[in-house]
Amino acid sequence: MSNSRKSAPRSFKPDSARVDSVHPAVNIEPRRGVKKPSLLILHYTGMASAAKAIDWLARPESKVSCHYVIDEAGCVTQMVPERLRAWHAGISYWRGETDINSRSIGIEIQNPGHEDGYPDFPARQMAAVIALSQDIVKRNRIGPEGVLAHSDVAPERKVDPGEKFNWALLARHGLGLWVRPSPLKADDAGLSIGATGEHVANAQRLLSQYGYNIQQTGIFDAAMAKVVRGFQLHFRPKRPNGHLDRSTMLTLSRLIAASSSDGTG
Ligand SMILES: [Zn+2]
Repeated sequence: MSNSRKSAPRSFKPDSARVDSVHPAVNIEPRRGVKKPSLLILHYTGMASAAKAIDWLARPESKVSCHYVIDEAGCVTQMVPERLRAWHAGISYWRGETDINSRSIGIEIQNPGHEDGYPDFPARQMAAVIALSQDIVKRNRIGPEGVLAHSDVAPERKVDPGEKFNWALLARHGLGLWVRPSPLKADDAGLSIGATGEHVANAQRLLSQYGYNIQQTGIFDAAMAKVVRGFQLHFRPKRPNGHLDRSTMLTLSRLIAASSSDGTG
């Protein structure tokens, strides 16, 4: 016991009144080139329990860390002070920036994830996500456009927090941009890998314009399918299959129109 005490990281004062407990992580460092975060990245833990996630996120050998963890009951644990860079986003990209960890605050939301049943996010957990996020964006002056999914900034590798996460509810609380998804048609399979042409290039241009990491090649390849899926997981969650159907295109166009006419910041 005395040995582990000796190397334990120092505790710190939580940044938010919403924090229930502090459990310091060790994989931390100064933010690079930025003083304040401009993004809030939401994750799910993908682990069996919040306790296991917190234990893992605190270990040096995990090579990961996160600012906050929220368990199923809505209890908030802070692990990294907001002024420091945590290791939650990994290789990632948004609107031309690649060091997303330096520019963001990360919240891990307890959910075992797609590979382990992917249960619904309980209402009291969502209430805690909203309350904490509102406090974070207010103090750090992060606009609605800065609240993103891990799957937005790393669509080739990540699907969290996934299609069951209620972004519409967050948007009603001023968190994240949102337009109501355009209705799906059962017989609209959409374009998929192998498709080429103007329509593909146009979708690539719009996805890139919104912030995703995608080149305008006019060729629908495997990387594009993952970006389309990433967009769907967040903005058209009913069918996140990576196919470019009409509902996806219309939702994307309307999202861009709404975000460019949106005066909030
Ligand atoms: Zn994640």
